[in-house]
Amino acid sequence: MNNIGKKFISMVVGLAVLAAILILVYRAEYATEEAHTKDMFAMDTYFVLKAYGPEAETALELCEAKVLELEAALSVTKADSDVSKYNNRESRMVSWDTYTLVEKALQLCEETDGALDITLYPVQQAWGFTTDSKRVPSHEELKELLKKVDYKGLIPSAPGRCPIIGMGEQQIDLGAVAKGYTGDCLLDILREQGVTSAMLDLGGNVQVLGSKPDGSPWKVAVRNPLDTSTAIGVLEISDKAVITSGSYERYFEENGKRYWHILDPKTGYPADKGLVSVTVVGESGVRCDGLSTALFVMGKKNAVEFWRSAGDFEMLLVTEGGELYITEGLQENFVCSEGWNAEVINR
Ligand code: AMP
Ligand code: MG
Repeated sequence: MNNIGKKFISMVVGLAVLAAILILVYRAEYATEEAHTKDMFAMDTYFVLKAYGPEAETALELCEAKVLELEAALSVTKADSDVSKYNNRESRMVSWDTYTLVEKALQLCEETDGALDITLYPVQQAWGFTTDSKRVPSHEELKELLKKVDYKGLIPSAPGRCPIIGMGEQQIDLGAVAKGYTGDCLLDILREQGVTSAMLDLGGNVQVLGSKPDGSPWKVAVRNPLDTSTAIGVLEISDKAVITSGSYERYFEENGKRYWHILDPKTGYPADKGLVSVTVVGESGVRCDGLSTALFVMGKKNAVEFWRSAGDFEMLLVTEGGELYITEGLQENFVCSEGWNAEVINR
């Protein structure tokens, strides 16, 4: 090799070393960079939005505005929301987000064969879960109200056209999917703004962007549904949603019996198939949110069957007897807390 060749090679090696040093310095800088956080009370719960990097502050401002916009459109209790106006037959016109969410939710209703049903609102209202007047409705009342429940009666207009929801007898409640959809929208904003590392805690539903700034996976504790001050274990994840539905989240007691907010659309009563919590881990927040509610309604046997045929998510189930089941894809990412033992469900 002549002198020019040798010089060229040493220049290339020098540049490679320089690039490696710059990458290390960059990572170290980000690893020590403080998180920007935004706390807010929205959608009836606490949100903690955390993001890293120079773009984080502006991005979180935009996220806050988006949460308020979505809450104003999707709330079932705010009188001037899209959902309330639709339910009160004041307007068929809804925002693009409401339309998109209804469309996605209807696909999940179909896929779960009605275990998820966004037209449960009249029944939900009778139980008083959306207001503060909780009570046990009579058998006859539930039977009557269930006649109004059928997601198949909702037909959203053709995509790309004016976002109008087809008008039937139905009244809708997007509570089972709204937070997951919100998380997806916020992650889009963060990405658009150039953020590559973030963790969103939307009332216990966690959605993470990328990994931690030091490159390691995010650690997400999964709450113990039987004692919510403790965790059943910790999940290590990157770019995923971890979304839980549990009977401990909202309930009341009457005559010594507990009634919770996740209802079985077939009976109108709280879903009671032996599970106390379902955590779904996957890519899409709205899908994980809808599925966590639906799988809770289905119970373990049907949830496992659903998981086997779907193939695009993982889950953790806790039964009322305190047994913990995890699907095989989580084996490497989940560490049980002391006193817990996870039985692995295989494909
Ligand atoms: P999540 O916490 O995501 O499981 O959602 C629970 C909320 O979804 C409840 O507070 C209700 O507003 C609504 N909901 C309850 N049961 C169902 C169901 N079977 N299908 C659709 N929405 C439901
Ligand atoms: Mg849900």
